[in-house]
Amino acid sequence: MSNIEELRRQVVGVDVQVPTLDGEERPYINFDNAASTPVLKPVLEGVDEFMRWYASVHRGTGFKSKLSTLAYETAREKVLDFVGADRDRRVAIFVRNTTEAVNKLAHRLGLTCGDVVVTTLLEHHSNDLPWRRVADVRRLPTTSEGRPELDALDSLLSELGNRVKLVALTGASNVTGLVTPIHDVARVAHRHGVPVFVDAAQLAPHRKISLEGDGRVDTYIDYLGFSAHKMYAPYGSGALVGWRELFEDGEPTEVGGGTIRIVTLEDVVWATPPENEEAGSPNVPGAVALGLAIDWFERVGMETVEAHEHDLAVYAWNRLHEVPGVEFYGPPLTEEANDRLGVFVFNLKGWHHAKLAAVLGYEFGIGVRNGCFCAHPYVKHLLDIRGDKERDLVQKVSRGDWTDIPGAVRISFGFYNTRDEVDALVEALQAIRAGQSQADRYRLIPHTGEYVPENDLDFRRFLPRLDLAGN
Ligand code: PMP
Repeated sequence: MSNIEELRRQVVGVDVQVPTLDGEERPYINFDNAASTPVLKPVLEGVDEFMRWYASVHRGTGFKSKLSTLAYETAREKVLDFVGADRDRRVAIFVRNTTEAVNKLAHRLGLTCGDVVVTTLLEHHSNDLPWRRVADVRRLPTTSEGRPELDALDSLLSELGNRVKLVALTGASNVTGLVTPIHDVARVAHRHGVPVFVDAAQLAPHRKISLEGDGRVDTYIDYLGFSAHKMYAPYGSGALVGWRELFEDGEPTEVGGGTIRIVTLEDVVWATPPENEEAGSPNVPGAVALGLAIDWFERVGMETVEAHEHDLAVYAWNRLHEVPGVEFYGPPLTEEANDRLGVFVFNLKGWHHAKLAAVLGYEFGIGVRNGCFCAHPYVKHLLDIRGDKERDLVQKVSRGDWTDIPGAVRISFGFYNTRDEVDALVEALQAIRAGQSQADRYRLIPHTGEYVPENDLDFRRFLPRLDLAGN
């Protein structure tokens, strides 16, 4: 099955019309897939069907409980297979999202004062702040395009010796879409006996993952986390996959029901992984949804997804360069090199990023994202905001004033986006440049940094359509 038109029809909501400021309705174009993707029909329908059978898991004794437990544990096996993990030595722990995966690992590594985690400047805050909490964070040098410098990593690891407990880096940047050569990094890190964590939030929906390596020695990945809501299964689930051994001893990250074997008034014997790391009643529909999304990716083939997205990214890159005044950040995208996802950040000359994003949404029905994409250090670096400029900005934002917040506009593709949608974006940008928008009728809200039109849309009017209006 490789016809993209056919695959697109499997995405819920691709044909939805949304209101625009001129009182018309337009087909919604979703170019914010790096944040969250829509749901796939097979996932939605599969979860709906499962809900008739859904019941308490693990210690429930009824038929439905046993069946639900089987569905939950089968989803776990699918996760392990999806990332190419050895089922015996690895464990998949269900989490809410990538952020929870990183925090859990950060706790479990049991780092102590003086320990170092090496990461990069490109990281999403979710793969940065949890490490800052528990370790001394060092940044591995990257090229001007954001590629890790492997010789520099080698030197850094030699210099810091056994203080380094982990190399933690993104599998693909959520800002520029650059795909990291994770297996090359792993090889260098392993040469120094250092394990590697990959933040696969952006990688998992777009590239095949091989946790046990790419066939060359020492290229395995030790730990990896990702989120289902970026994989067409937005039911609040994700996974942390890694060495079972790490989770075998010691106290779980969160404690409570489900994490124990036996409890006395004085003592606790902890359960084995993954149960000890899944405190409380688990999100069974979320895990089932993720399993269904994985089934879909396996059926369609990641190579089909990758090929279409690359083709679309090359097309978009070329078409967007036709618009005068568009300035891109990050490395160029070429047809030959397939190391970029369909993620672009840009600014339009003379335009505030937040205003441009608002106009695209309100007047053209195109959903994008703007700002710093939860990667403030990297985006400020790309925009050359440092020193006094950065300090002034920090002061201003700390006071709750977002008027000068820097940033860019990001578009990010899913497998279901089309060339027609890219053409619509290019036309919208041309029209905006030509003054064909209501640009002067937006105002900036200082405490959020958002632009809203004077005659804002009545979103409340839509709640009854969603059956969410209440009484
Ligand atoms: N890492 C990267 C690279 C991301 O793009 C994101 C989400 N934008 C995250 C981590 C965090 O994912 P989540 O919000 O699902 O925890």
